[in-house]
Amino acid sequence: MAGVSYPYPYEAPVSQNLFDRASLVTPGGVNSPVRAFRAVGGTPRFMVSGTGPYLTDADGREYVDLVCSWGPMILGHSHPAVIEAVQAAVSRGTSFGTPGEGEVALAEEIVARIEPVEQVRLVSSGTEATMSAIRLARGFTGRAKIVKFAGCYHGHVDALLAAAGSGLATFALPDTPGVTGAQAGDTIVLPYNDLEAVRAAFAAHPGEIACVITEAAPGNMGVVTPGEGFNQGLADLCRANGALYISDEVMTGFRTSRAGWFGVDGVTPDLMTFGKVMGGGFPAAAFGGRADVMGHLAPVGPVYQAGTLSGNPIATAAGLAQLRLLDEAAYAKVDAVSAEIQGLVTDALRKEGVAHRLQTASNMFSVFFTEDEVRNYDDAKKQESFRFTGFFHSMLAQGVYLPPSSFESWFVSTAHDERAIERIAAALPAAARAAAEATPEAAA
Ligand code: PLP
Repeated sequence: MAGVSYPYPYEAPVSQNLFDRASLVTPGGVNSPVRAFRAVGGTPRFMVSGTGPYLTDADGREYVDLVCSWGPMILGHSHPAVIEAVQAAVSRGTSFGTPGEGEVALAEEIVARIEPVEQVRLVSSGTEATMSAIRLARGFTGRAKIVKFAGCYHGHVDALLAAAGSGLATFALPDTPGVTGAQAGDTIVLPYNDLEAVRAAFAAHPGEIACVITEAAPGNMGVVTPGEGFNQGLADLCRANGALYISDEVMTGFRTSRAGWFGVDGVTPDLMTFGKVMGGGFPAAAFGGRADVMGHLAPVGPVYQAGTLSGNPIATAAGLAQLRLLDEAAYAKVDAVSAEIQGLVTDALRKEGVAHRLQTASNMFSVFFTEDEVRNYDDAKKQESFRFTGFFHSMLAQGVYLPPSSFESWFVSTAHDERAIERIAAALPAAARAAAEATPEAAA
């Protein structure tokens, strides 16, 4: 990054001190791995407050936030209506362990927005949502095997933490210690955007596959859009083979449109999973879909699923307040902000002659450092990630907070105003230069 001058001193001594303390008492110093900056190196910034499109770290430095808590903060940080709803809910108590009106209202809002969701069950994380949806699919169909796609992340559910070997319909080996062969052995991992592979898996395992789970539009290998007809093809193949089609909208839900990715491609799943935006920054998530399938859940059906804090009154109040503000005008704003930033990023990289490809799923987007189209995880891995390292650190030093990995979506909010966009625009030329000058050795 020689020759690049930054308006901020680069060190972050208070964050460094907190990280040192954290590393003594918490593995890797973080409570979720990607926060540790392992992919890009350096000291993770410990944030102390957020307002609108800005985050402030423990060293008192302000950043334009293009992570938005990995998606949830679609109205920006500390939105007054969300804060007010939370304060009102807190003043009534924090958890009752009984049903409450907030849960009903949030469930009604979800059902009203997303046609295929006839019934919904609230949980506390996206992981719980996908884990529960898979269990329900297995209980409903009486089948064991599930299909997932390489590069799609569905939370840290044991059966879903599996990567494929090469070839079609490879039985997965668990890709983390602690997940047994038995837990992952019924998971078939296939290449994304490859309907033939799905067809072959159904042919190889007739009557054995309970469900196909896919990110509605993947954002966890960078943003990779489903090819023309891919999601519909999955739905059709599932239906033809008596399996359930589960669309994971934890990331895309209530973000890519009023009705999430379903609002974009209109493909009807049997079950869907949600999280992030629907919690307004609190732990609230959900799974839902066909009433006849959801009717298999306890207490009406035999498939057990539960949660002490499910439908927590503060989380539901925050989520509901956020969803109620997300009308068509709000999505138009997020889309416009996203398009403007996308244009600035591409212009800056082009000016420096950096090979890149910007891919979008509605207002979600990411930059791959490759010229080639990225259609699946293998394509994504071919990019020159070391360029992202230079790019990331330059942006960070100039007060723009990007996701600390080139395999993540960037997120924007309704709060990203002209001032925030100008700050991004001002930072981009140096960051693009850093990407152009980056070498694999420097990033190692
Ligand atoms: N599904 C998708 C598509 C996700 O992006 C994530 C998290 O990023 C999850 C599931 C898991 O959600 P959580 O982190 O709330 O457990």
